[in-house]
Amino acid sequence: MEVLANNLKRQYDLYKGEYEEKVLSILRKGWYVLGPEVEAFEREFAQYTNTNFCVGLGSGLDALWIAIKLLGIGSDDEVIVAANAYIACIMGITMNGAVPILVEPDRYNLIDTKKIEDKITPKTKAILAVHLFGQSCDMDAIMHIAEKYNLKVVEDCAQSHGTLWNGKMTGTYGDVGCFSFYPTKGLGAFGEGGAIITNNEELAHQVKVFRNYGSEKKYHNEVVGTNSRLDELQAGLLRVKLKHLDEMNLERKKLARCYLERIKNSKIELPVTNELSSNTWHQFVIKTSSRNELAEYLSMHKIGSMIHYPIPPHLSKAYQQLGYHLGDFPITEKAAAQVLSLPMYNGMREDEQSFVIDTINSY
Ligand SMILES: *Cc1c(COP(=O)(O)O)cnc(C)c1O
Repeated sequence: MEVLANNLKRQYDLYKGEYEEKVLSILRKGWYVLGPEVEAFEREFAQYTNTNFCVGLGSGLDALWIAIKLLGIGSDDEVIVAANAYIACIMGITMNGAVPILVEPDRYNLIDTKKIEDKITPKTKAILAVHLFGQSCDMDAIMHIAEKYNLKVVEDCAQSHGTLWNGKMTGTYGDVGCFSFYPTKGLGAFGEGGAIITNNEELAHQVKVFRNYGSEKKYHNEVVGTNSRLDELQAGLLRVKLKHLDEMNLERKKLARCYLERIKNSKIELPVTNELSSNTWHQFVIKTSSRNELAEYLSMHKIGSMIHYPIPPHLSKAYQQLGYHLGDFPITEKAAAQVLSLPMYNGMREDEQSFVIDTINSY
């Protein structure tokens, strides 16, 4: 048997008929960018997340870049973010000329909120809360700090579609929630896509104008914007998948529970979830001091795995100019050396998961 780290074909097969019907109907309508499907998706996703406004965009990175920009954050402003975040989170900050201020993660792989206040300076303008691997940051602590220091809060929900903190959707605590619909994400399109959600009507309006060359009315450009438009096919397919998002999240939760109950190997540290957060299990991330050996062993048995992420942003070549060195963020660096994401996808079969578990237990 061969088990892939991720298998997008399986989740397509789950609702194949509905997807194909939707694609054909859109192709036949002849309207392909920013049309009725995008409008309907924006309405339905706002409803799902319990916010007033959703604006569809070209990608998750665009959502971060544009949200941070339109909150008025720019040159030399500081934005606090977890050191173990995905590099796109850091790019969303630096594309605006702002400076990422890195904070070590806690035992949940999320920004350690006890370490945030130490990093606040007169230049701090915002906290970017990245809900990594499917669980929510401590939004009570983050909102408390943000109020105390008058900071904006941007939530990166690219890995937390449908995740709740204390019973309320991630993305609805801060000023704005940013989503990616990259195919591997919890709510994944069949191509590129992203969105912001917010209760701030003015901000939603500005994002709408900005995504379309800065024009509200065609050829009447109010600001210098960009081209970051969700297309009709992706929006239509996302509408189909959104109807199944809760059941897909539940399916991954069951897979996670099975891993948690049945993996028994003293060399392996299993993931833990904060009791105030739900977990939509974007990834099932274990830790082990012999990570590379374990990955190699799994691969020998035709089991795929992935590393999220092998090089933390502060040690990446792209961010050399930030001036960090090995040793600056020891918790993040240790995690980068120890994390391994096990196969986890919608449509994963019981015999596949049992094979993964048995192989790991015999390691
Ligand atoms: C995927 C991802 C992004 C970027 O989204 P794209 O749609 O690929 O641009 C940003 N932040 C996090 C946490 C992500 O996982």
